Amino acid sequence: MALSYWSPGWRDQTLQSLSNGQSFDLIVVGGGITGAGIYREATAKGLKVLLVEQKDFAWGTSSRSSKMVHGGLRYLGKGQFGLAKDSVTERQKLMEQLKGLVDPLPFLMGHYKGGFPGPWIFDKLLAIYDLFAGKRYRQFVKSQVNDFYAPGMKQRELLGATRFMDAVTDDARLVMRVLADGNEQGGIALNYLKATGVMRSGSEVERNTKVIGLYLKDELSGKELQVQANAVVNASGAWTDELRQMLGNKKSIRPLRGSHLVIPFWRLPVAFSVSFFHPKDKRPVFVFPWEGQVVIGTTDLDHHNTMLSEASITENEVTYLLDAANSQFDHAALKREDIISSWSGVRPVVVDEYSAEDVAATNKPSDEKREHMVWDDAGCISIAGGKLTTFRLLALEVLRAAQPYLQNNLSISDLDAPSDFSESDESVLIGDHKLSKQRRQRLVGRYGDIANQLVEQADIDDLTLLGNTEVCLQELFWACENEAVEHLDDLLLRRVRIGMLYPEGAIHLIQPWTELLRERLQWPIQKWDEEWHRYKNIIADHYSLPNQKECV
Ligand SMILES: Cc1cc2nc3c(=O)[nH]c(=O)nc-3n(C[C@H](O)[C@H](O)[C@H](O)COP(=O)(O)OP(=O)(O)OC[C@H]3O[C@@H](n4cnc5c(N)ncnc54)[C@H](O)[C@@H]3O)c2cc1C
Repeated sequence: MALSYWSPGWRDQTLQSLSNGQSFDLIVVGGGITGAGIYREATAKGLKVLLVEQKDFAWGTSSRSSKMVHGGLRYLGKGQFGLAKDSVTERQKLMEQLKGLVDPLPFLMGHYKGGFPGPWIFDKLLAIYDLFAGKRYRQFVKSQVNDFYAPGMKQRELLGATRFMDAVTDDARLVMRVLADGNEQGGIALNYLKATGVMRSGSEVERNTKVIGLYLKDELSGKELQVQANAVVNASGAWTDELRQMLGNKKSIRPLRGSHLVIPFWRLPVAFSVSFFHPKDKRPVFVFPWEGQVVIGTTDLDHHNTMLSEASITENEVTYLLDAANSQFDHAALKREDIISSWSGVRPVVVDEYSAEDVAATNKPSDEKREHMVWDDAGCISIAGGKLTTFRLLALEVLRAAQPYLQNNLSISDLDAPSDFSESDESVLIGDHKLSKQRRQRLVGRYGDIANQLVEQADIDDLTLLGNTEVCLQELFWACENEAVEHLDDLLLRRVRIGMLYPEGAIHLIQPWTELLRERLQWPIQKWDEEWHRYKNIIADHYSLPNQKECV
């Protein structure tokens, strides 16, 4: 009997059918936003596609970003108008098509006497931003008004502030929504399946023979398999060099770590994302409200640690981020004890040739360009450096590069425009569930049409929000049964985000429901106990403060 997509047991069944020798038009390596976008676009064009992710979907940078779907003021500042225009246009479309998942977030930038940028120049920059958006968002506000939007913002020498608009998302849920479309369109997406080698036509020792598939390893069972394809896409983010080096290329990714701190909303109750410059090095940093808490971000440092596990914040970064927030909110007196959690992501910044020693000596991390790059190595198309905002455009660019290898099945004229998301207004959610308009929109944004099934299958109590979070128990139940949860961290850190937003990975919040979750996951008690232990270690090592392990 065929099991439903991503339900418990489906993965084993699907792996079995892959071992029996299926072949594909395209295999996509990497289940972050870039790979997910390519998977969705390729399946929309009718291609037969397999996506493989070595850990969990969105486990890489795409669950540990700053969550902004932004037009890229940075691009404008550097005169990259085309890039800024594309980004703003995509931002507007995503806000329209994925309401409840990609939502407007107002920003505030204070202007201080003698400081940069002054209100005039900033207004001119934002005028271009607004022009691309086709809408005027920017507005200069007098200093006393700021106390309403961002109470506690430093007042000394404040001339006023500029309000402007960008958008915010839940990055891991965005990946899930994009993958779900690809599944719906006939693709296969498997987590914990690692690409370990590249299959080439002809002799393995010959150079430049065409790539014809991948060697894969099931990271859960240890089983190995081979799958053939007309083309391979390497969308493995900060890990891009691993596959590219197998094809004879030099390293070209400079891994840069960015970390964030989470504090309770009541400690810094900002209605807006407040942007400012760090007093120490003048880098842009920000404080923004997200999912009921407040986030302070980010740092930008060379990441020399292993890429086999999540990145973690260092003591210096904690101090740097606290100093930033305390400089802009000068009476807040934020301390280490206020911090609930942290997360760190690794940015795959593309450089000509990467050597850890040389690069650190030449360019400061924040001086590196943040542009993406596409390479074609005889049928293995690699892409690195993508953003959350432009994932649909990058997918088209990659498919154009792959098209010569897919001639019979993909016409270049199909690649003019990315495919849109289906209508996602909250009114598609039917039934008498007494959810507020905002909650209906949130569910529809995150789950698309399937939100109806999620709600229909719920007991009314399971739709109640868990504690102070913005998540209900039914979302956890749904994930257990329909969203390829293999480990507890998949559930609590990426299907819902409470693990990174509440003390001790939110274990106290879910403790009363563990038996119900275990049943839905179809895990024996021993597996649950092992997962609980593993989860606590992950939280202590990668989502807490340094040296806090003993507290979790
Ligand atoms: C601190 C920080 C903040 C950021 N903030 C923003 C922001 O606010 N807005 C924005 O637009 N962008 C932001 N970015 C950039 C953005 O998050 C990333 O560019 C984007 O998430 C990269 O997505 P990706 O899919 O290319 O990479 P990833 O999300 O890292 O996905 C790559 C995946 O490939 C998998 N993989 C690797 N090797 C293999 C293999 N051999 N087999 C199978 N799978 C493999 C990895 O496990 C990983 O899950 C930020 C980045 C950082 C570091």
